[in-house]
Amino acid sequence: MEKMINKTRLSLIQGDITRQETDAIVNAANSSLMGGGGVDGAIHRAGGPAILENCKKIVAQRGPLPAGQAVITTGGNLKARHVIHTVGPIWHGGKRGEPETLAGAYRECLKLAVENSLKSLSFPSISTGAYGYPLDQAARTALGTVIDFLKEDTSLEEVHFVLFNSQVLDAYSNVLEELQP
Ligand code: ADP
Repeated sequence: MEKMINKTRLSLIQGDITRQETDAIVNAANSSLMGGGGVDGAIHRAGGPAILENCKKIVAQRGPLPAGQAVITTGGNLKARHVIHTVGPIWHGGKRGEPETLAGAYRECLKLAVENSLKSLSFPSISTGAYGYPLDQAARTALGTVIDFLKEDTSLEEVHFVLFNSQVLDAYSNVLEELQP
């Protein structure tokens, strides 16, 4: 599914984010930035050791990355030249600021992409794997935040959500159709 949001094409696709050719892909990392399971492990495996070396330098300088913030590294061997690492919230029932933190994670990635003059960016479904965020609620916050940003800032040409299976794709598609009929 594709929608134009102002000047940016927003697409939902099913696939493996490590194979995307956008200028950057987003990693749903954890605060240590030392890699992990899920999409984080897949990105480090596909991109090779240069990404982890970059992450180690960043952590040495500024410490662990708090949830809702983002940093940019090389893409190593990936087709994407950069990886933007962010940390989503761990779901604790929804009353510990999870929606605000998740929205912040998406916004900080978009801001970093714009600051680095990138034209295209791919997101995974942040926080909906190991971090347990309910899929439908995560999709609402993810898409709502990205759409609000793209209405204000027109410098990105393409934003993709690269969703790993049909259940995640369906959840995001239903929400996008509701938000942008
Ligand atoms: P979190 O810890 O933020 O919950 P996970 O990596 O556990 O992150 O899961 C986030 C989402 O990423 C899940 O929907 C999962 O299915 C998906 N995912 C896992 N591997 C990939 C991949 N290679 N490409 C795109 N999405 C992926």
